[in-house]
Amino acid sequence: MIKTAEILCVGTELLLGEVVNTNASHISKKLADYGVSVYHHTVVGDNPQRLSEALELALSRSDLVVMSGGLGPTYDDLTKETVAAYFGLGMHTDKPTEEAIKKFFASRGKGLCTMTKNNLKQAEIPDGAIAVPNPNGTAPGIIVEKDGKTVIMLPGPPRELCPLVDGAISDYLRKNTESLLVSHNLHIIGMGESAVEDALKELMTSSENPTVAPYAGDGETRLRVTAKAASPEEGEKLCGEMIEKIMSSTVGRFVYGIDVGSTEKALINALKEAGLTVSTAESCTGGLIAKKITDVSGASEVYMGSCVTYANEAKVKLVGVSEETLKKYGAVSEQTAKEMAKGVREALGTDIGISTTGIAGPDGGTPEKPVGTIYVGISSRLGERAVNLRLSSMRSRDFLRTCTAGNALSMALDEVLKIKNEAKL
Ligand code: ATP
Repeated sequence: MIKTAEILCVGTELLLGEVVNTNASHISKKLADYGVSVYHHTVVGDNPQRLSEALELALSRSDLVVMSGGLGPTYDDLTKETVAAYFGLGMHTDKPTEEAIKKFFASRGKGLCTMTKNNLKQAEIPDGAIAVPNPNGTAPGIIVEKDGKTVIMLPGPPRELCPLVDGAISDYLRKNTESLLVSHNLHIIGMGESAVEDALKELMTSSENPTVAPYAGDGETRLRVTAKAASPEEGEKLCGEMIEKIMSSTVGRFVYGIDVGSTEKALINALKEAGLTVSTAESCTGGLIAKKITDVSGASEVYMGSCVTYANEAKVKLVGVSEETLKKYGAVSEQTAKEMAKGVREALGTDIGISTTGIAGPDGGTPEKPVGTIYVGISSRLGERAVNLRLSSMRSRDFLRTCTAGNALSMALDEVLKIKNEAKL
């Protein structure tokens, strides 16, 4: 049974930083789902000597090595040959793969993409290996089992690798691992990571299975409950019992959803359920909240639109901020944020208005209003409110804007939940 694994990605482009190693992340997450411990990720260039050394080291300390890349038809694609040499295996042509490659090129039509001798090299696999058909490319996945060790070789392009990992490789792992992991995420608003940790200290330290781990997301706290189990049913049962305990603790009333994905998705679902609509007036986030909301398909049912009111003039003309407010308190102020939220809510006739105004830097800060002074405003039938997020002036402009958008979405979600609760009273 496979208990430990490591990932060995091949490609000079990864070492040069030209390509981000998303394959390692995808493979690692899948191995975690099956309870396999991953202790090392390694990247080597297209160099046979270093690849061979890395493979030897990986196999000396892990039951399974999952490799990505280097299965192409060109001279620098050396993964299969290196693995075969390590185990002392010859190579042979896998007939079903050869047929699949011929069919692939025939379906492309003449002239578009002609098959060369090199392409048929992709049908060669080590003796005794299992070829895993790749519906999105010509290089199959390959599994070699020998001397109590397993090597899985996968093609580099993520659009080929990910479906293989989620399909045939998952089936293989299910049969060859003892346990799997079942996880659920509880989404919390209104209680910070350390407060959650404090409230659940006993639960967290007393339970090894399932484990409970808090972490901070964009403007919210998440609790990940993870159970190691022999079957999905057992994992669900263990997680369910733990979630029940959490829900009956003081943290429970701050949980707004389980496995809801992103805050924007949760907001849109909550708005739909409550029959409410929302609009945005954005200054320092420049449309980022609008982008996040409209990333969710079906947002048009509840999202009316946005005014990007960057200049003072736009704040006055488009969302009715008074010139007096701007003069007296400035564009970056609680008062302006409130007026922007109210103004856009009225202009677009929505139930909730969200606004942002602040100094995202790196320039523009003053001793009174340093970089990171960012207000998020909310307007609804419950009134207007605005908070200064007081973000760190040391963080990048990008971070400050992303963090602001996340907080604004969380605050809007909080408002929807308040309106819903008020309606129940
Ligand atoms: P091909 O038949 O396309 O040559 P291959 O199995 O030989 O497939 P590589 O040549 O190593 O794979 O990589 C092909 C492309 O896949 C790379 O140029 C890169 O864009 C992408 N890729 C490779 N490895 C990774 C990785 N670890 N993470 C993300 N993308 C990757």
